Amino acid sequence: MLSISNKRALTERGSADIRRGLMLAFVISLFATGVAQAQDKPKLILQITVDQLRGDLPTRYYDRLGEGGFRYLWESGIVYRDAHHAHANTETIVGHATLATGAHPSNHGMVGNLWFDRETGFTTYNVEDANYSLLTKGASVDANTEIDPTQRAARSEGRSPAAMLVTTFSDELCSNTGGNAKVIGVSVKDRGAISMAGHSGTAYWFSKANGEFVTSTYYLDKYPDWVNAFNAAKPAQQFAGTEWQLLHDQDTYLFADSDDREWETDVGGFGRVFPHSFGDGSSKYFTTWLTLSPPGDRLVLDFAKQALVAEKLGQDSVTDYLSVSFSSTDYVGHVFGPSSLEAEDNILRLDRTLADLIAFVDKKVGLENTLIVLSADHGGPDTPGYLNGMHIPAGYVDPDSWDKDAAITRIKDEFDIDGDLIAAYDHPYVYFSDAVKNNRKIDQEALEAAVVEELSKLHGVSLAVSSTALRRGNLPDTDLFRAVVNNFNSKRSGEVFIVFEPNWFINDMEGLIVASTHGSPWRYDTYVPIVFAGAGLTAQTVDRRVQTVDVAVTLSTYMGIKPPSGSAGVPLTEVLEK
Ligand SMILES: [Zn+2]
Repeated sequence: MLSISNKRALTERGSADIRRGLMLAFVISLFATGVAQAQDKPKLILQITVDQLRGDLPTRYYDRLGEGGFRYLWESGIVYRDAHHAHANTETIVGHATLATGAHPSNHGMVGNLWFDRETGFTTYNVEDANYSLLTKGASVDANTEIDPTQRAARSEGRSPAAMLVTTFSDELCSNTGGNAKVIGVSVKDRGAISMAGHSGTAYWFSKANGEFVTSTYYLDKYPDWVNAFNAAKPAQQFAGTEWQLLHDQDTYLFADSDDREWETDVGGFGRVFPHSFGDGSSKYFTTWLTLSPPGDRLVLDFAKQALVAEKLGQDSVTDYLSVSFSSTDYVGHVFGPSSLEAEDNILRLDRTLADLIAFVDKKVGLENTLIVLSADHGGPDTPGYLNGMHIPAGYVDPDSWDKDAAITRIKDEFDIDGDLIAAYDHPYVYFSDAVKNNRKIDQEALEAAVVEELSKLHGVSLAVSSTALRRGNLPDTDLFRAVVNNFNSKRSGEVFIVFEPNWFINDMEGLIVASTHGSPWRYDTYVPIVFAGAGLTAQTVDRRVQTVDVAVTLSTYMGIKPPSGSAGVPLTEVLEK
């Protein structure tokens, strides 16, 4: 039970403590004989999150994967083949925060990439924080080139995990070790790095405005030398004058004959067919193109490697934590669809990126000393065009038209509402306007019920649930309702929760028309891989239904530390057996 690293830690204390410690160790070891537990704590926990890696994608092209990437994880690790998010709004921050905290969004508070803040009267971006600024000047979001609409909604450039209401596994690791565990989160996306680094770690992400990795003054007053050196080498510029080409001969691909599909998005001239040119590096979309293609993941890989070496992660007896969140799969999925030639090539290249990361960690720390866990923040739907081609019903919906819908106009007349009834639709919530919310003459519950009834009838809407109904409980005991309840936070959720029909979703991302969008409680969005590997684990395939809230609790149980404060999951026992 008592690990070697614990013994080593004890010897670093005073001599009286040592004697007491060794006595205690002896007594504990007597009682611990035969307990099936992790014997030696790993030197490093490597948490890999692939944005929009639907559960089927790692094995969809399995026969064409190389060695050491997905194959290493799937063939030497514990693979959970029926893993799902248990919340309804399957968006990036919601899934990352759930993996990090083991809590449902109802408790961790990240109910969506955006929510309407009633106190300020503005839509809020999940990791924005006006109390801080970026540590690099000129690196904040450029509204002219930013294609991520949630980023454009942020009203200040500062970033922090302040809106995350509970602790992460990484926080608990820091807390358990008196702050000695080193915790670093890296991603292209700020929210992909910040959520996993927790409140006590350090997060770095890629600024599309200047092509460098940056952080916020929440974390640091000054960059370490290695970050300055990394950025000084102009990492993005290595891709200027190059193009995204297929890794293999085109005729070996499943989607070889369907490169040009009308629903794919041409972002700023990047095109819909191979090769996709990055130009000479001068385009205002240059860094954006890097993020919606494999180079985004390569940049994150290179930065993570530097972090591992320079910060000496996994080099002493205190277990360190490195989170690497890869974002290209998500952007490629949105822009081209998950069943496209681009997405297929991206998976094959992601496999090489993973192999590179795993080999590097093996060399520097040793895989026997590293517990790896890979999962995803959410899955994703196929594009309606692709599905319709196989006679599967699918399509796009447009919530912006709802406030003008005849039925909503009738409700306004009935409740004597002059201005807007719907102030915002921040997916998946309808927020009523302040004027309506604050009007004491209006029976709010009756109004919610009337809106729910009308929105439920709209084309593409499967279910509408009012907040009053969610607060009251007593809902049908189904996966769908449980997922909506798991997503409900009374301070941040809106008045009505909308679930679209399966394979129906919004494709207008604030002006950018994309091929597909996740964010539903349907299985293609909740289904993700969960794989634990390294650290002497024995290969195993598990078909029991498990949830993403189980990941953080498994890590804390494995480490023998207290679970994150809001965690709802249960330990995955296969990982704890040795
Ligand atoms: Zn996405």
